[in-house]
Amino acid sequence: MFFIVWGWRGRQKEIGNGEFYCPDCGDYRGYRLIAVTRWFTLYWIPLFKTKELGEFVECGSCQGTFNEGVLQFDPKGAQEKFEASFAIASKRVMFKMALADGEIDEGEIAQITQAFANIAKREISPEDIAAELEAARDDTRPIGDYLEDVAGSLNDTGKELVLRSAIAVAKADGHVDESEESELHELAKALDLPRAYANGVLAEEGIKAMAR
Ligand SMILES: [Zn+2]
Repeated sequence: MFFIVWGWRGRQKEIGNGEFYCPDCGDYRGYRLIAVTRWFTLYWIPLFKTKELGEFVECGSCQGTFNEGVLQFDPKGAQEKFEASFAIASKRVMFKMALADGEIDEGEIAQITQAFANIAKREISPEDIAAELEAARDDTRPIGDYLEDVAGSLNDTGKELVLRSAIAVAKADGHVDESEESELHELAKALDLPRAYANGVLAEEGIKAMAR
């Protein structure tokens, strides 16, 4: 008797590696990207590839397996990106606020420096101040435009922080005039802060409420 022994066998091959955020480990880990193929075998020897079965990602730490989409998941990167755009937008808002009454003084710059340190957790340099002032002066877009990218991702507490920073800057010269008041109202609207919430913050700071 003569038997021909043939069949198929799955084969795995590493086709890439790197670092990713493992959802199971909850942290950044090394990974291997593995391709699975089906091979035709004769006498248990793989002869040729018959089918690409797909690819998966394997965590080097917990050995958990995931589909390739997991490589796009980068919570820390997304957070950093958000913080950077948030810092830029709120900085621009504060300078626009300081310029609302047509002039900017030492007190307002000190307020911006402090508020920016609270928000961005870093110092704003004198060069940065000069550049930002010039940019804010040349930029005639309404306040909402700076916040467009970030307002949607902020919760009410984050929005309140931006509003309070702007109020602190408006108050720095000792009084809040009408132009500053309307800028603050525009800011609250741009932030899409609930009206009652915004008016509560404004009232606490002794500033006129927004009209209906
Ligand atoms: Zn893992």
